[in-house]
Amino acid sequence: MVRENLKIVEENIRKACQRAGRSESDVTLICVSKTKPVEMIREAYEAGKREFGENKAQELKEKFEQLPQDVKWHFIGHLQTNKIKYIIGKACLIHSVDSYHLAEAIEKECVKKDAEADILVEVNVAQEASKFGLKLEDTMSLVEQIAGLPHLHIRGLMTIAPYVQDPEENRGIFRQLKKLSVDIRAKNIDNVDMSVLSMGMTGDYQVAVEEGATHVRVGTGIFGERNYHS
Ligand SMILES: *Cc1c(COP(=O)(O)O)cnc(C)c1O
Repeated sequence: MVRENLKIVEENIRKACQRAGRSESDVTLICVSKTKPVEMIREAYEAGKREFGENKAQELKEKFEQLPQDVKWHFIGHLQTNKIKYIIGKACLIHSVDSYHLAEAIEKECVKKDAEADILVEVNVAQEASKFGLKLEDTMSLVEQIAGLPHLHIRGLMTIAPYVQDPEENRGIFRQLKKLSVDIRAKNIDNVDMSVLSMGMTGDYQVAVEEGATHVRVGTGIFGERNYHS
């Protein structure tokens, strides 16, 4: 099932790239494997996938230890400061930094481990109360502040768009995030690049690709529905 689903998702990404006049190689598919067993991840691995996303620090650490070293683990969940220690040196990219307090705590852990961390700043573009992330208008100043932390490197922005029936409803959100990343890039801040735009999930990744996503995070579309109660 995983292999077949992957083919469909990859084909959809390819078509979205074509529509937008983008190159397929500019879009990375992150297979969101949270709650899913290692065997399913292996299936995706054997189909050639190397980028996986997890939203719980301990789960990422456990899976990191069980899967081949060439897997790239993306941390996409809300990160509590007391869990940072589980993912430093293991996550290739932390997608969800939304406060200076958290950034400082990551910096501290990096110093302790003599490591560095690539991060994205999470923006709650839709301003949903239920979601983490910064307001659009607060993002620039946080980016400038975090840029001063020597062990952290901002690689771009991330957003989680609302859950909608029609993905077209999220197009404006993706556009706003893209525009913000262009504005930040134009400032040429030291220690900041805007090469990553992490947006789009199972329900809306095709629209996100059309609007410039460099990384889409697809879970259900690859591994099927999650069951949080079993
Ligand atoms: C779970 C999750 C996803 C994947 O969601 P699907 O709708 O299953 O594709 C993507 N991004 C984040 C941050 C998530 O927590």
